[in-house]
Amino acid sequence: MDFILRDVAETHSGVAVGSVAVEKDMLGLLIKIRGYGDHDSQDGEGSPIFLEVHEGKLRLLVWDDINQEEPRIIPLHRALESNRIVVAIPKTTAGQVDKYVAGNGVSCLHCGSGDLNCGDWDTSDTMVCRQVTCGDCNRTWTDEFKLIGVTTDET
Ligand SMILES: [Zn+2]
Repeated sequence: MDFILRDVAETHSGVAVGSVAVEKDMLGLLIKIRGYGDHDSQDGEGSPIFLEVHEGKLRLLVWDDINQEEPRIIPLHRALESNRIVVAIPKTTAGQVDKYVAGNGVSCLHCGSGDLNCGDWDTSDTMVCRQVTCGDCNRTWTDEFKLIGVTTDET
């Protein structure tokens, strides 16, 4: 498959022209780019980027310097989707909420930071709400306000 790559910035006119091909015997995937090569190949024949399976693991070989015999070898097994570490967000406890409300909601429910960003008021007949985001830990929650009393103009 042939390709042409352009610079994302339109002020630069450089392009890279090349092709992607599976090596004969299906040993690897070659990415050839016109004008670029690797140490051991004739000009016009080389491929500076090579993807292969080695000892059961996927790896990328890159000849980023044509005068160096050995490529950079980048193992890709840590990029396996099955290696993704999912960090569980701890649930908010009743104790945290009580402390936050008792402190009039001026410091983060989770990390205690005072860098809180409040969203627009959302009103109904019985409640007023606004979303709050902590500028430090980026967690979000909703402040709920209730009617607690009245002030009259009677004297
Ligand atoms: Zn926070």
